[in-house]
Amino acid sequence: MAKRISVVVSQGQSNHPAKREMEESIVASLLGERGVDVVVIPHLYDLANDGTGVLALQGLSGHIVVLSWLYERAARWTLDRHGICGQIGATTIKPPEDDEDDEDLQDDADESESNQEAKMRVWDSRPVPARKIYCLDLRIHDAIGPYLAEIRRIVDENQVELVDLMSWIGGSPSPEQLERYRNPQAAAVAHAPSIANPTRVDDGSERRWYPVIDYTRCTNCMECIDFCLFGVYGVDRAETILVEQPDNCRKGCPACSRVCPENAIIFPQHKTPAIAGADVAASGLKIDLSRLFGAPDGTEDAAAVAARERDEQLLLAGRSALGGATQPPTGNGAAAVASVPAVSPATPPTASTAVPPAALTAAQPVLPPAPAAQAPPTANVSRAASRVVKDELDSLIDALDEMNL
Ligand code: SF4
Ligand code: SF4
Repeated sequence: MAKRISVVVSQGQSNHPAKREMEESIVASLLGERGVDVVVIPHLYDLANDGTGVLALQGLSGHIVVLSWLYERAARWTLDRHGICGQIGATTIKPPEDDEDDEDLQDDADESESNQEAKMRVWDSRPVPARKIYCLDLRIHDAIGPYLAEIRRIVDENQVELVDLMSWIGGSPSPEQLERYRNPQAAAVAHAPSIANPTRVDDGSERRWYPVIDYTRCTNCMECIDFCLFGVYGVDRAETILVEQPDNCRKGCPACSRVCPENAIIFPQHKTPAIAGADVAASGLKIDLSRLFGAPDGTEDAAAVAARERDEQLLLAGRSALGGATQPPTGNGAAAVASVPAVSPATPPTASTAVPPAALTAAQPVLPPAPAAQAPPTANVSRAASRVVKDELDSLIDALDEMNL
C-alpha cells in the first residue's frame, strides 16, 4: 500500500504573530490535502531527547516534509540527531543567492577542493532508510503559496512512483506491487484527503543550545572532541563521533564549529549563516570558508575566535583559560587548538564517553612529572629508602663513638 506523506510543522521559538499565522495557515490549508498527515510540534531544535515531540516524529513512517524556521541542513541534521533519518529529499525551496558575498568569497584553491572530495565521510558508511526527508526553510518566502505548491509537488513526485510501479507487468513484481495490483482500493486510501485534525504535540520543551553534526561532511577526525572542554562530544560503539551530552554545551558558544576542518558542525540558532547551517558551498563557487567562520570584521581567523570563545566559556564556568594555546590552522583555516582533556572536571566521564586510542592520545594534557615525595611507593623504592636511613644511622653512631659520647 502506498505510504501517506507526513508534513511536520515546527513552530518558531517565539510567539511572533506573523510566524504563528503563517504556520497555522499552512496547517489549515493542508487539512484538505490528499495523502497528507499533518503534525505540529514545538521548535524542532528544542525538543527534549525523550519527549513526546521526538517520540511523535520517530513514530512517523514513510516520507516526511518538515517545515521549520531553520536552514535546510540544520533541520535535517537536527532530525538525524533525534534518530529520524532518511535520504535527502531534494526541494525547490531555495534561498536567493547573495551575489555580492559570493564574489568576495571566491577562492582559487582547486587542489584543496579536490582533496576534500576524496575523503571518506561518516555518511558513506551509514545505513540510511529508503524514505526521504524534505526540509523546507520557512524564512525563505513570506507567503504560504510556495510551500503549499512544494508540498503538492513532493506528494506528486512520490505518487508518480505508484503509477510507474504498475509497469511491472512482464517483470518481477515485489510483494507490495502484487498486493496493490490485487487490491487497488488499498492504494486509493493513500490518496484520500486527511480527515483527522492535525496531530499537535506540546512537550513543554525549553530553548536549548547544542551542536548538530552534518555526517555528509564529517570525516570522524575527532578534532571537535579534542577541542571541547565541556564533555559534549563522545563516540558510539563504532567509534563514530556524536554529540553525547548536548546540554553540556555552553549557551551561545559556537567555538567547535570554527575548528571543524569540514564545516560539519552546525549551531542552528547562531546568527552567522555558515555556522547556522546555510549551505554556503551549494552555489558551486569556490569559497574561502575560513573567512565565514572567523570574526565578521576579518580581524581574527577562525582558530583565534574559537580559542577566545572557549576561554570565555572556561572563565564563565570558573575554570582557567588556556590563553593563546593554539596551533596553526588546519582544514578550513580553523585550528586544532591545544590538546586538552575532552571531559570537564565537573562532568565525570561515562563509559560511552570513552574515546578511541588515537583521540585519547591527542586529548591527554601534558602534565608536569609528579613530585617524587608524592609518588606511590614501590617495594624497590622502600628498600632503597631503608638502606639510606640505615647508612645514615650507622654514620651517626660512628660519629658519636668518635666523640666518645
Ligand atoms: S571536527 Fe568535524 S569532521 Fe572532525 S569529527 Fe568533529 S564534526 Fe566530524
Ligand atoms: S566547544 Fe563550546 S560550542 Fe563546542 S560543544 Fe564544546 S562547549 Fe559547545
